[in-house]
Amino acid sequence: MADKKQRVTQIKVRMYRQGFGDCFLLQFFAKTERVFTMLIDCGIKLNTSRDECPIERVMDDLRRELAPQGKKGGPPTLDVLVATHEHWDHIAYFHPETTTKSGGKGQDLFADFVIRQVWLSWTEDPENPRARQLNSRLRDGARALQMAAIKLQQSTTGVSGSSTALNEDPSRAARTAFGKGVAEVASFYGLEATAHSEPLAAAGSKSLKTQEALENVIQLGKKHGRVRYFQPETLVDAENVPPGIRVYVLGPPGIQPDDKLLKKSNPSAGDRKETYLNLDQAGFAGFVDGLLTLADGTSAGATPGASTPFGAGTGLPLGAANQNHYLRETYFGQREAYRKIDYTWLDAAGQFALQLDGAVNNTSLVLAIEFEDSEKVLLFPGDAQVGSWLSWHDLQWQVKSGSATRTKTATDLLNNTVLYKVSHHGSHNATLREKGLELMTHPDLVALIPEQEGKYRGIIHPELLERLEQRCRGRVIVSADSGHRPEVLRTTARPAELDAKGWKQFQDNLEITDTYVEYTVEG
Ligand SMILES: [Zn+2]
Repeated sequence: MADKKQRVTQIKVRMYRQGFGDCFLLQFFAKTERVFTMLIDCGIKLNTSRDECPIERVMDDLRRELAPQGKKGGPPTLDVLVATHEHWDHIAYFHPETTTKSGGKGQDLFADFVIRQVWLSWTEDPENPRARQLNSRLRDGARALQMAAIKLQQSTTGVSGSSTALNEDPSRAARTAFGKGVAEVASFYGLEATAHSEPLAAAGSKSLKTQEALENVIQLGKKHGRVRYFQPETLVDAENVPPGIRVYVLGPPGIQPDDKLLKKSNPSAGDRKETYLNLDQAGFAGFVDGLLTLADGTSAGATPGASTPFGAGTGLPLGAANQNHYLRETYFGQREAYRKIDYTWLDAAGQFALQLDGAVNNTSLVLAIEFEDSEKVLLFPGDAQVGSWLSWHDLQWQVKSGSATRTKTATDLLNNTVLYKVSHHGSHNATLREKGLELMTHPDLVALIPEQEGKYRGIIHPELLERLEQRCRGRVIVSADSGHRPEVLRTTARPAELDAKGWKQFQDNLEITDTYVEYTVEG
């Protein structure tokens, strides 16, 4: 750690351009000397890559930047590694057996890094029973979702071997697209889900790939340093952050001592219901159980066994129904295909996928990094969605300035945000409006969006992008979208709302290469 007098004067934020996923290197400088380093996430959407910036390039750059200063040789060293949440596009490259497009097989890309601290949200703490409970539900949900995606795709391709495949069904095209959409959400857990995939749930207790990556992050932290799990409303202790800097923990939301959020069987009213998915909500519990039972092979039909409306013995298995002459003529008849309901229960998968995705995004560790003197803030929310944003406004922090103690709120931090890492790659539901973006009123506001064009439907959300452009007065930087290449900022005329000095300062603080975009925030 640097000398106490070396107060941080600037932070260089390097957004890597590996594709659809987050990877941010923060370097804290006291004048010209670097005093602290932090890496926030390193991931990519499953089965995607970006030819212009393969991960090897990112790793080479990280090794170069993180080589110990003033010494020859020595391992790359990081003061803090943050893994925001358990989604592949944030933690893929921490997997202990990473295979890369250029042929790297089964390596731990960070094995030789010296990491002094790992910071995770309380929801990842294996010692916390509530976290364990929440995580096992979310992971069961992911396995069930993969199963639903596989079944949905089988239902349109006939792979299941059942004559009930909807090959003749006029709704087939829509269902195919729907199945792919559900598979896409499953991919954020590192799960493949095609009609031919083997469901993970069938392999007993086998871990999710995201889980393995996260467990490796914990191991990397334990090797040379320590792992810390943060609750909201924490102000990170001064001895673990560089002089002149405060770090506030805004999310993920906590759980009440009585486990109110986990036990509640119905979602609360309003937007807050999006905070954590209530997997024990009756409908979804049946859905998840049913899918997992299917994967066990204990139920032969397409209807989930655990949530059938009638008792055992009252139904006819699909195979037997198929042999029944009357049913063959009627229910299974060509003309009646549009009335079939064999797979209708899978329609719930869409809503389930969105809720599960939101619930995991809301476990994101949300950090606000503040310069003590100027009170300027850099906001890194991971993929936090509405429920998390709302919860920040219930928090307050006591900070010392000189001999006085002041109370800070989320509104104060948002008012002073000068760098906003846009949550969830710019989706429609991860940047709150009135209690979020509209509170970011600082004239220096710049936004960074890590995403790759066409890799996820609806991202970037055009209306959000438009509002960001207005609020940031043209200073919105996108990592890897060919429609919004950062290079274009070099030739863009100065936005009318920004004075010449402000535009020049922005340009001066911006560095663009094929591998990264770096923006320097002056303290
Ligand atoms: Zn993400």
